[in-house]
Order: sequence, then C-alpha cells, then structure tokens
Amino acid sequence: MALIVQKFGGTSVANLERIRNVAKRVARTREQGNEVVVVVSAMAGETDRLLALAKEVSPRPSQREVDVLLATGEQVTSSLLAMALQDMGFPAVSLLGHQVRIFTDSNYSTARIQSIDGSRLERELKEGKIVVVAGFQGIDQEGNITTLGRGGSDLTAVAIAAALGADLCEIYTDVEGVFTTDPNICPEARKIPKISYEEMLEMASLGAKVLQTRSVEFAMKYNVPIHVRSSFSEEDGTMVVAEDQSMERVVVTGVTYKTDEGKITIKKVPDTPGVAARIFGPLAEANIVVDMIVQNVSEDGFTDLTFTVPKGDMTRAVEIVEKVGKELGAKGVAWDPDIAKVSIVGVGMRTHSGVASKMFAALASEGINIQMISTSEIKISCVIEAKYKELAVRVLHKAFGLGEEAVQEA
Ligand code: ADP
Ligand code: ASP
Ligand code: MG
Repeated sequence: MALIVQKFGGTSVANLERIRNVAKRVARTREQGNEVVVVVSAMAGETDRLLALAKEVSPRPSQREVDVLLATGEQVTSSLLAMALQDMGFPAVSLLGHQVRIFTDSNYSTARIQSIDGSRLERELKEGKIVVVAGFQGIDQEGNITTLGRGGSDLTAVAIAAALGADLCEIYTDVEGVFTTDPNICPEARKIPKISYEEMLEMASLGAKVLQTRSVEFAMKYNVPIHVRSSFSEEDGTMVVAEDQSMERVVVTGVTYKTDEGKITIKKVPDTPGVAARIFGPLAEANIVVDMIVQNVSEDGFTDLTFTVPKGDMTRAVEIVEKVGKELGAKGVAWDPDIAKVSIVGVGMRTHSGVASKMFAALASEGINIQMISTSEIKISCVIEAKYKELAVRVLHKAFGLGEEAVQEA
C-alpha cells in the first residue's frame, strides 16, 4: 500500500462532469489499495473572477479580505469532490487549510508555508477516508486566512506530500506533462519523460507555469518525487526527480518565455561608487524585486542603467527611480512594458560551450533584436520585443533540436 497525493488543477475541476471524472480517477487509485490525499484548485477562471469582483468593489481592496475571498474558490471544489466520492460509495472528507493546520507567515497573497500539522490528515486516512484538501490556502499564527500565490495548489500538494512522507505526488493538469516548451504556442514541443528538480526550478521561474516555482523548490528541498500528468489521459507524464547522470547529456532541456516584467532605463547617471546602491536600495525597501540589470559602458564618466521589474510594480518603480534620478542629476527615466524574456535551460550547459552564441545567432536569423542578456550556470535569458515572443520560442526550439528525438543524445 502506498500513500499518494493527487493534485487536480483548475481545468480538471472546471465543471461537475469533470469533478465526477476526477472522483473516478481518485476512486480507482483507492481501489488499487493506496491511501489517497487529494488537493484541488478552484474551478478554471474562478480565482480571476473573484479578483475582478474585489477590484470592482474597491480599487485598493484590503489584502486580508482578498485572501478570504480567494480561498472560497478551493472551498467549493473540495466539498463538491468529497460529495462526488461519497456518492460513489467512498468515504471522503473535505478539509480547508485551517482544518489541516497549514501554518503560513502573514504575507497575504504570497504567504510562505511554515509548518503543516499532519495529525488530522493521518487520523482521517487511518479511518479509511479519502481526504480532499482545498489547495492554495493556509492560516497565519493569528488565525487569518492566507493564500500561497498564484498556482499555489501545487505547493499545497507538495508540502502535504512532504509532511506525510508520501510515496508520490501526482500533479494532474491540462497537458500531458512538462514539455520542451509551452505546447500551446509551439506544436513541435515534446514531452520530457524525466527532468531534474534544478532544471524544473529554472523552467518554472522563467515562465513554464505547469508547476508553481515554489512547489518545485519545496519538492527539491524535501526530495518529493513529482509526476506531472494529464487528467484527460492515461499516458505517463513527466517525472521530476533528483538529477542523475543521463540528464547531463542533454545540453538544452527546454525553452521558456515570460511577459510579466517591464524594463526601466535611467539615463546618464554618474559612473561613481555608490550610485547603484542609491538606485536599487529604495526599490528593495519598497519590496520591488529587480530581475535583470545591465549597465552600459561609461562615456565621459556617465552611464545608462537598465533593469526589469514585475509589470505590477512598474508605476511605483518609475516613481522611485525618477526621484532618485533627480537627486543624482540623471538625464531622464524611460520605461517599456512591451518586452518578453525568452530563456533556454539545461544542466548540460555546464559542460558545453557555444550555447549562448547559438542562441544569439538563432534570434538574429529572424531579425529579433536582443535588448538584455543574463546567464547562470544552467540558463541563458534574453529580453526582446514582446511581439516576437512566439517566433523566438519556435526558432530557439528548432535551433536546439528539441523537437527531434535523435538530436537529444549528444
Ligand atoms: P493547472 O490549472 O492544472 O494548474 P496551469 O495552467 O497552471 O494548469 O499549467 C498548465 C499550463 O502550463 C499548460 O496549459 C501550458 O500552456 C503551460 N505551460 C507553459 N510551459 C509549459 C511547458 N514547458 N510544459 C507544459 N506546459 C507548459
Ligand atoms: N486557484 C489558484 C490560482 O488560480 C491556485 C491554483 O489554481 O493553484 O492561482
Ligand atoms: Mg497551475
């Protein structure tokens, strides 16, 4: 007998028919002799709908109340799935975040899990029940409802799997696994049978939203094996596991894109010690996460600094930088939200050269201008004009032979 955590995303529970299908799949796993904890997302589109309601009633709704509101989406699907299972004759119980006792910090909308009390879950399992947990939510030490960031039900599932020492965490979604790039924009994308936590973490944080970034961090830390698969098929999906030798042979594993950042340039600031700290200090104090930074070669003691921030923070960031810019005697501040970041990811990059130049040549072959570049040991990212996003993904996917099985074994 194994203990399996199964998480079903929004599209998998989008209506009652799909909820009944999920119930059948869960029941089958139970009938095979396994203990099952299920984690559900809200119905597809529900979290966005609730957010829009909050914005309609108030332009700046209280973050505490937004989390109370958003948590209702998962409450609905958890109870409906428990009912569907009971209707099929299976003992089932739904539990909300506070009932499981998923404790988080008090950062509404992006709360971090601090601890999970497994005792209630264990008791229900011992009584032979299928436990259905509402994903994406917890409580802080004061008892306030918190949510774990968009896509946070993935984290609920992985964290519960870790807390209970589950044998496997299955993430059921609307695609058959983790692909070499988003299959919805590149038809040649290929399913990756096995990927390391490290690569998956880079892919997720660089835009592959099939797994929430923090859920991968958590899985890596606690060594939780994840199987990403489709709730609409029986095919095996992608195993996300610790790195092994065979993975090293693949130079580039995947291509990702992100369009949720904008670019800010501060022009002609003095190229003297302390200037960067003067600019980025106040941004950090305002809790604005700066991603890529490029400083131009200085001319006559002055330089341009360009960096990216989340689009949601652009207005605040520009205000701050304009203020600092005045103090520093800068020539002006320019900003551009119409950018995309395309990235290639692969652990094999550590041991192969020429990967960056191949990426730049591929983008150049389509006349796509590179505005910013950043690299790490296992990824290279380029900022380009947003309108070239899909073209860039396809040309990179082709350039690194990701659509063709044969080229993978270099
Ligand atoms: P769920 O609602 O089940 O959590 P998500 O919408 O969060 O599902 O994630 C699945 C989506 O992730 C897919 O529909 C796909 O468009 C997108 N995606 C982006 N990059 C990738 C990738 N490399 N592999 C698979 N899916 C990807
Ligand atoms: N319902 C939440 C969201 O849409 C959490 C999740 O689906 O994982 O982001
Ligand atoms: Mg998701």
